[in-house]
Amino acid sequence: MSQFFGSIGRGLRGKKPDKPKPSPLLSASGNSGNGGASGSSGNSGNSGGSFIPISGNLMPGSPSGPRITQKPLFLCKPFVTSQLVKGSFSTIVVLPRYVDQGEWLALNLFEFFDMLNKFYGVVQEFCTPQACPSMSAGPGLDYSWLDANKKPLRLPATTYIEYVLQWISNRINDESIFPTKANPATTSTDGGFPQNFYVTCKAIYKQMFRVFAHIYHTHFAKIVHMSLEAHFNSFFAHFIHFARAFELLERRDIEPLRSLIDSFEEQGLFKDNERSREQ
Ligand SMILES: [Zn+2]
Repeated sequence: MSQFFGSIGRGLRGKKPDKPKPSPLLSASGNSGNGGASGSSGNSGNSGGSFIPISGNLMPGSPSGPRITQKPLFLCKPFVTSQLVKGSFSTIVVLPRYVDQGEWLALNLFEFFDMLNKFYGVVQEFCTPQACPSMSAGPGLDYSWLDANKKPLRLPATTYIEYVLQWISNRINDESIFPTKANPATTSTDGGFPQNFYVTCKAIYKQMFRVFAHIYHTHFAKIVHMSLEAHFNSFFAHFIHFARAFELLERRDIEPLRSLIDSFEEQGLFKDNERSREQ
């Protein structure tokens, strides 16, 4: 499966015009050092450096499109039941025996990020400021970006996602958060990860979820058009299963895709089976 995704990614990568431009907002929002995501204030809800959701995460009254009253496409059959594999993802989610949890979180986070980047690459050409004037996650739900002065900004989804991907990329390339070398100074129990590691992971997952939510709510037809719905659903189910297993997403954060997650639950994708426990 990863080989397949890899080839998609590479193919589309070549077509991508350029890398995200450095953003003045990013550099202004504590990108270096501790930043907002480290949660030094203990306010992990406001994670993500500059993106603090306003009024419980979502801004009502999106002008980005007509109110959709029918079921979103991703909840319709056969798409909602389209999966690469039948059965639970437990075997690839549960912490393998004798493996450091920090390492397991870091490795999976890298992979989810890499794959999400590729999936966004697939729909990116359709995610224009005209098509997506806001970072929408369904009718009436828009994420706002907070600028350096914590002022909420309504950005086109493409800009918002570009900032998010760059922000995550900066985090995971930060040796102080995601060390690539064993640190002899640390004890064997903490795996060499810093104190704020878990909070940073949560902040990253929260932002990754928003990208999923935008793709599902706005670009799912393109995913179907390319016959990628089974891949995307499986990828999302894996992501959610992992986040649930390690409590990386808050209940309120997953609201925009709650119905889809419930459906996956009913399909048994999150079942905690005996075999996975044994590994
Ligand atoms: Zn879009």
